[in-house]
This record gives sequence, structure tokens and C-alpha cells, in this order.
Amino acid sequence: MGKCKNITRLLSDALDRSLTSGEWLAIRLHLPTCSGCRNYRKQIRLLRAAAHTVSGIESADAAGNGER
Ligand SMILES: [Zn+2]
Repeated sequence: MGKCKNITRLLSDALDRSLTSGEWLAIRLHLPTCSGCRNYRKQIRLLRAAAHTVSGIESADAAGNGER
């Protein structure tokens, strides 16, 4: 089933654009049946949160000590 490819793409698209209700529906129907895609969703969320954290730390460092 090529479905996971679509779902993971939609999940990453959702970070950049609004999905249509049909796209959300496809995700909602698929996620409960597929641990792989649930993990994927968890990971991109973590990555996104981590990106925020890292940029926060970097600017704090820049303001704090002189080391880059
Ligand atoms: Zn899947």
C-alpha cells in the first residue's frame, strides 16, 4: 500500500500549509491503523520543537558569553 507515503507527506506538509479537510480525514483514518505513521508524526513534532529550542539556546548563547 502506497498510502503511508501519502500520509507522511501530508504530515510534513501540515507544518508548512493548511491541509484540506479531506487530507486531514485521510490522516485521521490512517493513523490509528499504522504505528509507523504515528511515529513519524511524533518525530516531526519533536524535530520542530527541537528546532525552536536550539534557536532559543543559540540566541541565548550569543547574548551570554562571547564564544560564538
Ligand atoms: Zn502508515
